Amino acid sequence: MHKSLGALLAIGLAGLQFLAVLVVVSSSYVTSERALIQHARNLLRDVGINTIEHSKGFLSPAEGAAELAARLAQNRVIASDDPMALEQLLFQQLQIAPQFAGIYYGTEDGGFVYVMRSPGAAGPFRSKIITVSPEGARHVEFIWRDDDFQQVAHKVDPDDTFDPRKRPWYNRARQSRATIWTDPYIFFSSQQPGITLAAPVIRDTGAIHGVVGVDIEISMISHFLSRLNIGEHGRALIIHRNGDVIAHPDLEMIKTRSDDGTLRFVNITEFEDPIARAAFAPLLQDGEIRVSSETASQFTYQGASYVSTVMPIISDKLPWTIAVYAPENDFTAVIKQNRTTNIWIAAAVAAITGLVGLALAHYIHKPVRAFAVRSALISQGEIDPNEPLPNTYRELERANETLVQEIAARREQAAQIERLNRDLSHLARGHTMGQMAAGLAHEINQPLTAIAQNADTALFLLAQNPEKLGELPEILNEIERQSLRAGDIIRALRGFIRKDDDRRAPFDFVALVAQTLHLVQPQATEASVEIATDLPASLPPAEGNRIQIAQVLVNLLRNAIEAVATQTDPARPRRVILSARPQADLLRVTVTDTGPGIRPGLNLFAQFETTKPDGMGLGLSICRAIVEGSGGALWEDGEEGQGARFHFTLPLRRPAKPAGPVAPVRADALE
Ligand code: ADP
Repeated sequence: MHKSLGALLAIGLAGLQFLAVLVVVSSSYVTSERALIQHARNLLRDVGINTIEHSKGFLSPAEGAAELAARLAQNRVIASDDPMALEQLLFQQLQIAPQFAGIYYGTEDGGFVYVMRSPGAAGPFRSKIITVSPEGARHVEFIWRDDDFQQVAHKVDPDDTFDPRKRPWYNRARQSRATIWTDPYIFFSSQQPGITLAAPVIRDTGAIHGVVGVDIEISMISHFLSRLNIGEHGRALIIHRNGDVIAHPDLEMIKTRSDDGTLRFVNITEFEDPIARAAFAPLLQDGEIRVSSETASQFTYQGASYVSTVMPIISDKLPWTIAVYAPENDFTAVIKQNRTTNIWIAAAVAAITGLVGLALAHYIHKPVRAFAVRSALISQGEIDPNEPLPNTYRELERANETLVQEIAARREQAAQIERLNRDLSHLARGHTMGQMAAGLAHEINQPLTAIAQNADTALFLLAQNPEKLGELPEILNEIERQSLRAGDIIRALRGFIRKDDDRRAPFDFVALVAQTLHLVQPQATEASVEIATDLPASLPPAEGNRIQIAQVLVNLLRNAIEAVATQTDPARPRRVILSARPQADLLRVTVTDTGPGIRPGLNLFAQFETTKPDGMGLGLSICRAIVEGSGGALWEDGEEGQGARFHFTLPLRRPAKPAGPVAPVRADALE
């Protein structure tokens, strides 16, 4: 029992610890996960905003520069119409605007001056100049120049057929008569993604002289994206309104070759970054990317969770959507790892606490157990309470002191109670015996008087009237009868006071009743009370101290007789009935009387509780002690005003041995 208590304590302790740690771990996990995902969203948003700012910052100076170039061209070109002067002008513009990949001017007659960066080639700059004579003869020349506009190489290409008037940028600017932006495309010469900004040069007459074009490479934006840290595996990309991916950290992924061999952008629906495709291809509806507002979302791709953010288009000129995604794990992996570690720590803490708790419970419980064993041994009398207590808790020491004192006090009280009981029962026995002796004297007196009288009569007859000898047999018969009666009484008395006082043994209850009735009959006769018995024909032997049970019977019968004696109503019968019935293993004995019943409020079985002037108030308490000592019970349940009814039980010896028929003892059998 105590072991399981210890284990229970330990397991409970460990379980509680585990539960507590688990609750703390998971609650902190949930909150930190939420915070981290929020943090990831904020980061994605910042990336989007940065990319927008960067793109704008990259492109808006270009716009200004292109317009400036167009105005300059308008003034100078119209003034000089000199391709060399124009080349120099364009060269200067290219030098001051690092975003420009190339700058050029196409004219209505098919002429073309183009200055572009050509890193790694013969010189850092290359010009292409197409002149058309009034007769229509074309001259195409390539010039490579250094940073100081000094020519480093030169080539004439008679096979070149390039005509600016056929290019879309030329026609759109010409038609709109304003600066136009092309959709991003991949430049033919540099094979880099870019956009072209074209502005018309208009004569005073209003006629178009030509169109200035500026190529702006936007691969810088992809380089910018590749430098961003969005978690570990996050990516940002820019999708054009038509779904083309125009910037991505991996620049090569955004380019593909079309059927005619030229390079074009890869559309988001065919993009080879499958996560980006899964996340953002659905944005393309009816050939157009539609994002009305900044939208953060979470999605799952092949079992992994991702966070993403898309921004609405930057502007009408730049109808680009910035899309950013990152695996959640990039942000939450650490705390997930942490959580697993924490759960292991919790389990370890619980296990250690459990073991420590077990040891502690054992350690704490040991002196308590020893104390319990010691107390048990003391209570069995195996050891003396005064024996020194082994080293233990102060509380137990105090408990032991109290216990020792209590035991001593109880012994003192018991050793006293026993003496008192002995005295009391002695007193009560003496009292009972005294009363019985008085009854007996009276009872025996009658047959003895009769015998004496009859003997006298016989002697007198013999002396006086020898002739009347005929009556002698009758007189002698009477003497015999009376002497037999006296003998009966004396035998009953002897049977009653047999010297087996202290033994509990099986005895014949019906016989004991007969003997007892001899003792109370005189008192009943004197008080004109009839004693009736109602006993079974045969009974197994009852168990108990025969002489003490007789004392109980005498007490109950005498109380009943005394109660009926006080009863003065001539209409009420004056009767005491003694009955007995076997009930299972018990014999139930009932003494009923027609007296006034128990006075209300009387504590019947308390010692010294009496209503009689010469009573001692001990009889019933002794009776109850005797009956209970024999393994039975004694109680009273008469109805108020209807007379008293006392019951007591005695154990019967089972199985019943077939006993000889016992004749019911009737009250008048003694008369
Ligand atoms: P005592 O007879 O010396 O008074 P008992 O203990 O035998 O002491 O009885 C206690 C009291 O119980 C009696 O004084 C009496 O009032 C009441 N008593 C006992 N038996 C009867 C009875 N059969 N009818 C009415 N009262 C009774």
